[in-house]
Amino acid sequence: MNAVGRIKRGALVALIFLCVAAPSAAGAQQARWLHQASSISALLAGVYDGEESIADLKRNGDFGLGTFDGLDGEMVMLDGVCHQVLVSGEARVAQDSLKTPFAAVVFFRPVFSADSGRIENMEGLLKRLNRLFPNGDGFYAVRLTGEFEMVKTRSVPKQNRPYPPLVEAAKRQQLSTASNVSGDLVALYCPPSAAGLNVVGWHVHFLNAQRSRGGHLLDLRAKDLKVEGMALNGLQAILPGFEEYNKARLCEDREAELSRVER
Ligand SMILES: [Zn+2]
Repeated sequence: MNAVGRIKRGALVALIFLCVAAPSAAGAQQARWLHQASSISALLAGVYDGEESIADLKRNGDFGLGTFDGLDGEMVMLDGVCHQVLVSGEARVAQDSLKTPFAAVVFFRPVFSADSGRIENMEGLLKRLNRLFPNGDGFYAVRLTGEFEMVKTRSVPKQNRPYPPLVEAAKRQQLSTASNVSGDLVALYCPPSAAGLNVVGWHVHFLNAQRSRGGHLLDLRAKDLKVEGMALNGLQAILPGFEEYNKARLCEDREAELSRVER
């Protein structure tokens, strides 16, 4: 049985740890694990309303990404501020009372710094990140800051019930391309053992320096970005306990759909 199958049979609210090393006994402020709300399998299945508020999320991290109830845009959490990138690509500060059906955050305390060198496209970014953070079985949180010659992002429109699966909802995504902008990339890496819970590989969101535009990163061209990163101890997933989640068909293999939606 895969991880998600085990989760469905668990308690209404499950606490999952996939640990690379034992988590510290210190409090959440010192935690070096990825905290996430719900699972990517649930999002792919069309469970677009969550239980965890943005206020709750901020108690578990100050850096990360995700989406909002009703799939109302892309989330970029940076420096403890939760930004909501609407389908138009415009960003605003998200209200603490909003909820999320999928998000992953960490207390970002980088211990590693490097220069990105020249990055010609998304493939080049991923290759560079894989060289700098080579443990494919680990979890990483990485921030890249600087000037971008080009960034191509997408955001998604708010959905109405009955919710379609993500692969259908994503067909109405809107793309934005910007030239010569400064800003930040929020990048999270999850290993194959996290399949079903989170996006395996790198998942990257962008926010400009004015914090006025951003989205899920699809392509870029940049050079000499400042790269800061940290390895994480593992993953803590808080799963919803409501009926819709428990009835969702989470055991289906949705890797092909995920690949279409995320890349
Ligand atoms: Zn995304």
